[in-house]
Amino acid sequence: RQLLDRIEQRDGNYNSFITVTAEQALQQAGAADRRLAEGDAPALCGVPIAHKDIFCTSGVRTSCGSKMLDNFVPPYDAAVVENLQKAGAVSLGKTNMDEFAMGSSNETSYYGPVKNPWDTDRVSGGSSGGSAAAVAAQLVPGATATDTGGSIRQPAALTNTTGLKPTYGRVSRWGMVAFASSLDQAGPIARNAGDCAHLLSAMAGPDRRDSTNLQRDAGDFTADLNRSIEGLKIGVPKEYFGEGLNADTAARVQDALKEYEKLGAELVEISLPHTDLAVPAYYVIAPAEASANLSRFDGVRYGHRCENPADLRDLYMRSRGEGFGEEVKRRILVGTYALSAGYYDAYYNKAQQVRRLIKRDFVQAFEKVDVIMGPTAPSPAFGIGAKVADPVAMYLEDIYTIATNLAGLPGMSLPCGTVNNLPVGLQIIGNYLDEARILNVAHQYQ
Ligand code: GLN
Repeated sequence: RQLLDRIEQRDGNYNSFITVTAEQALQQAGAADRRLAEGDAPALCGVPIAHKDIFCTSGVRTSCGSKMLDNFVPPYDAAVVENLQKAGAVSLGKTNMDEFAMGSSNETSYYGPVKNPWDTDRVSGGSSGGSAAAVAAQLVPGATATDTGGSIRQPAALTNTTGLKPTYGRVSRWGMVAFASSLDQAGPIARNAGDCAHLLSAMAGPDRRDSTNLQRDAGDFTADLNRSIEGLKIGVPKEYFGEGLNADTAARVQDALKEYEKLGAELVEISLPHTDLAVPAYYVIAPAEASANLSRFDGVRYGHRCENPADLRDLYMRSRGEGFGEEVKRRILVGTYALSAGYYDAYYNKAQQVRRLIKRDFVQAFEKVDVIMGPTAPSPAFGIGAKVADPVAMYLEDIYTIATNLAGLPGMSLPCGTVNNLPVGLQIIGNYLDEARILNVAHQYQ
């Protein structure tokens, strides 16, 4: 009740929620109280959380930040929602996001931009900007999010929160609105690594309904948090400290690396030579997959439908024309073009080849080091409106995060200081299924 009041009083300043489910939250909290009284409390019993509005919630609107799904009330819960509910968490509502998770600033949301609690003239990052801002403004201690190219880590960096994108396939994608299926992965944003570990332990796990799920038991991600990191080998990729990185951001990250040396870790310079190809490869692969995934929104079965269609073609064209925003249309056009008969080999196949090279860079690096560290985003939060007119400048926000998705590796962002009172994020990239280790490494610093 206290947090619901706080949301009501403060969220007008941040716009981090699209839907607040007060009544349902109080019911869930009541059930949690009863379970506590009966002594049968699961791990997260009574812990308030929020879900990014990309996760289907039974009986609660799931907009995905789009006019297209403004009226969509799913008849079922996503696996992540089910899992957290089973663990006893109490959901307070659905958080704002870039439309269909396409963006790095939350400015593509049909429901308006999310404002950064550190400076409300600035963006909170995206696409999970609502989840990050809600945690940063202490409206909830943790929230679910998704990351296709950086959407958990970059908003975490810009809001002084901690976010973890798990290994691809660790968390079920069932019931999560698909953007780019070979890259999408759900994870937590919370106050620190310890809380992320608790949330991930509840979110992850096997699920036959998602054919790309790794079918592994989640286990307890908190078990290794207090392990010493003496002797840890930290790879520092030289490509992550080049042109385009804000000098003050670089300085905060270097300070954090020095702290790690004091904790007994060893810094090893490494090279990820195909780093500069990650953004271009991503902006072929992600739009290609998005163009296929978003073809389901046709005005027929669910979602926005235009008024008085003249015929079927008119129904498709006007429903999609009215329902989708500009960035989503741009991605559908690029993706459809890249997949078209004459261009498939030149763009899509080429991008998939580049993806393999990027993955090989990481596999080779992890033969020498235990984790990789660098900045999460090239600069602190920028002004609302500053990059909207320049999609390429916006795409470069994810220059340090996208390669991880292309390779399927786990990555996290944790706070490492501020520049002019704006937060900076340190990124930790781990080897496949090494979430427990990156959480441990983050926890030792925090
Ligand atoms: N900013 C990237 C994009 O716009 C990544 C978004 C995401 O991870 N969902 O595609």
